[in-house]
Amino acid sequence: MSKQTLNESQKECLRALPQVGRLLEGEQYAALIEETSRHWVTQLLRDESELLRGEILAGHTYAADTLEALLLERVHIRSRERRHGLLKRVINATGVVVHTNLGRSPLAKRALERVVEVSSGYCNLEYDLPGRRRGGRMFGVQDALRQLTGAEDALVVNNNAAAVMLALSAMAERQEVILSRGELVEIGGSFRIPDVMRTAGVRLREVGCTNRTHLRDYEDAIDEETALLLKVHQSNYVIKGFTKEVSVEELVALGQARGLPVLVDLGSGCLFDVGDAFQVHEPLVQEVLRAGVDVVTFSGDKLLGGPQAGVIAGKKEWVRRAAKRPLARALRVDKLTLAALEATLQIYLEGPVAIRAEIPGLSMLLRDISALEVVGRALETELSVLPSGVTVSLVPSLAAVGGGALPSATLPSLQLAIDAPGFDIEAFDKWLRARQLPIVARLDRGRISFDLRTLLPGDEHHVCEAICQWFDLDSK
Ligand SMILES: *Cc1c(COP(=O)(O)O)cnc(C)c1O
Repeated sequence: MSKQTLNESQKECLRALPQVGRLLEGEQYAALIEETSRHWVTQLLRDESELLRGEILAGHTYAADTLEALLLERVHIRSRERRHGLLKRVINATGVVVHTNLGRSPLAKRALERVVEVSSGYCNLEYDLPGRRRGGRMFGVQDALRQLTGAEDALVVNNNAAAVMLALSAMAERQEVILSRGELVEIGGSFRIPDVMRTAGVRLREVGCTNRTHLRDYEDAIDEETALLLKVHQSNYVIKGFTKEVSVEELVALGQARGLPVLVDLGSGCLFDVGDAFQVHEPLVQEVLRAGVDVVTFSGDKLLGGPQAGVIAGKKEWVRRAAKRPLARALRVDKLTLAALEATLQIYLEGPVAIRAEIPGLSMLLRDISALEVVGRALETELSVLPSGVTVSLVPSLAAVGGGALPSATLPSLQLAIDAPGFDIEAFDKWLRARQLPIVARLDRGRISFDLRTLLPGDEHHVCEAICQWFDLDSK
């Protein structure tokens, strides 16, 4: 905006905007400078003055004599915010359980406690306590993974993308890998199977068609260049209609007949049989290994419900080979991940009762609709204090597994929908996301709602409080 179009009050405000240098010398900021640093406060003052100047130029009106106090207040708020960090807990009311943008799986309480315990002091990460010598960093998780999956050995890396890359390079570097055209998956962003294979230094040999791949397609493609048969879980899409895919068992038989190993990228890493809860069967890690696959890879933070990690599990020979590669060092996980993963796997070792109760993602997925109804009814009652005109309704909905897993699974859910005359849904949604404890709600066809399936125990109180605050009521 040019100077000419400014009105008198804008000009006065701009003149009244205090100089950063003068403020820094004054009493008002002395305590904050003492607590933090001159550099910290200077930066905050510059940023907030700039914002305020922008607001004045954009036509916001302020009384000139209040600007200095306003700036002081904003600097203090921003200082607290910055010290608090930008990465924070949020409430997931979207109904998508493994929500990649919201950090995928919440950790089990036991896993969190283990992280705190192991990392708040020293730990035996690479120290063999009985032997008083250097030890291996993965004994705990390896042991648990062997017991849970039946694998001879296991290796944990940064995520499943890393696991696939490392396994491919260890099993087939500079050689050919056969994969069905129906499994050329893009997981999202930069994970596309053909690109991953190129980066891993292996050559992709595509076989079959998008909808149909036969065993003979693999058979015909095998030649002296072939090092590996690969199968990739379709994860985030389904091929319907006139389809045919080669089963893990068939691939294993073919591999054995032709002396070729089989690698399966399972994606989700389901270790717990949820029966028909999702209407579709998700292959379990232990099933696939039992079928004779040489190596499987899977994520730690999808259906498994642990920290971000990737697991390579299977025959000792291959896992060792992967562990010896320089890439393994580059992709290795730290003690926080190992502590969280080991504690999560221990819950699985205890069995179904512990799993259902303690793995938050699985608890949400397996929660009976009647449990959601109880929470929903309680919320409705609490919200009966809202001004007349505001309607709160419980509406049946469908939640999703998310995280690129089980796209066709249907999870019956309930959502709390809010309606009011003249209700500015977009403003409400923006305000919800800007709270100290942000709430990410569901926006659908001009309606805002809170899906109850993805709320953690206690989250419903925050949702209730937020709704009451918006309609200008104190919650109790
Ligand atoms: C999710 C997924 C990956 C990537 O796993 P990250 O843990 O996100 O790296 C790879 N392959 C498949 C089949 C997946 O579903």
